[in-house]
Amino acid sequence: MLSDSKENLWKDDTICCTVETDPNDKYQSCSTPIYQSATFKQSSALGGSQYDYTRSGNPTRTVLELHLTKLMKSAIRSFVTSSGMTCLDVLLKLIPKHKNRVILGDDLYGGTNRLLNFYNKKGDITVTHLNTTCFESIKKEFTNNVGMVILESPTNPLMKVLDLPKLVSFIKNNFKDCLVVVDNTMLTPLNMSPLAFGADVEYHSGTKFLSGHHDLMAGVIAVKDIELANVSEKNIYTIINSTGVGLSPFDSFLLLRGVKTLSLRLEKQQSNTIKVAEFLNEEILPKYKKNFKVNFPGIKQNSNYGHLLKSYSKGFGAVLSFQTGCVEKSRIIVDNCKLFTISVSFGCINSLISMPCHMSHASIPAAVRKEREFPEDLVRLCIGIEDADDLIMDLKQSLELAGFC
Ligand SMILES: *Cc1c(COP(=O)(O)O)cnc(C)c1O
Repeated sequence: MLSDSKENLWKDDTICCTVETDPNDKYQSCSTPIYQSATFKQSSALGGSQYDYTRSGNPTRTVLELHLTKLMKSAIRSFVTSSGMTCLDVLLKLIPKHKNRVILGDDLYGGTNRLLNFYNKKGDITVTHLNTTCFESIKKEFTNNVGMVILESPTNPLMKVLDLPKLVSFIKNNFKDCLVVVDNTMLTPLNMSPLAFGADVEYHSGTKFLSGHHDLMAGVIAVKDIELANVSEKNIYTIINSTGVGLSPFDSFLLLRGVKTLSLRLEKQQSNTIKVAEFLNEEILPKYKKNFKVNFPGIKQNSNYGHLLKSYSKGFGAVLSFQTGCVEKSRIIVDNCKLFTISVSFGCINSLISMPCHMSHASIPAAVRKEREFPEDLVRLCIGIEDADDLIMDLKQSLELAGFC
């Protein structure tokens, strides 16, 4: 049996790269093997083995889940699934019929928007989008029939910062049974611990920072409540076991390997991001004040957001966005970068550039984007581990082609 004890002694950097392997492993391998097996032999007709069928459990997946549980403060159990969206789908299955209203932000991941719309149209849930940066609007809209709140901070791609601890404690103090879910993909467990300040569930797209190499899809759910994890019909394990959305052995191996370098990657990505944001903010913005806008909590202009985020997160993350005032200019910038790859997603070792309204957020209809004041000229940058000077040089030459610089 693997121990699931928490090593409170170690710091995050140490926990990340120190994976506890199975002490009963016959060969004492240092890297967790891939148990690429759907079935496991039983010791007798009565069963008796720890594993029987990979939909229900797999040794490679177990090592990964125990490892991730250690990284997420206050978590008692975590689950890995086939993608970030399956995490959300599993969680939405927990919503009871009599409390089927879901509240979430108005600047959120496009796929989250699409899945919630699907269930909303089907009549399973009622979805309310609010400006979650405004505490008063949440307070006003909150009713007893809200079964779940899904929060993301900073918002993506506009990088608005929520007062998460205040929101979470307001909800838990006044509406105890409402499940508070935090999508922690943007900050990672190393920066923020939503369970520690009161959230019921945190989930991640493991496809992003946790894997770090864009070579797999995965999702992670962590809970601090034993009921949610194990017993009663509000049971995450039961849903995963029943549907088979648990992460495959091979992808579990890859994700485990990715997590080992998370702290190293994140540190470099975050320091690069600050440098890129400062370049845009200090060299480009002053010349084009009227039209140019940088969205990143780590710059002077956004110090309100910066202070707020710092109160509950160790870092600012590695995503920023900017507006040029002109859709065509933004397109020229995106099309002419050489080092930045045009791609959706973030959290990878390589830097990416995109126009969210054409890519990651294209599933939000143009009319809805307009209503939510989503800027069509927005360019999103997701920063990797390259040399920051090279990234800045690349941006500079493409900004030049678009008439900036
Ligand atoms: C990518 C992402 C998701 C969805 O995760 P997948 O692994 O792509 O299914 C959810 N939330 C956020 C914030 C994301 O960036």
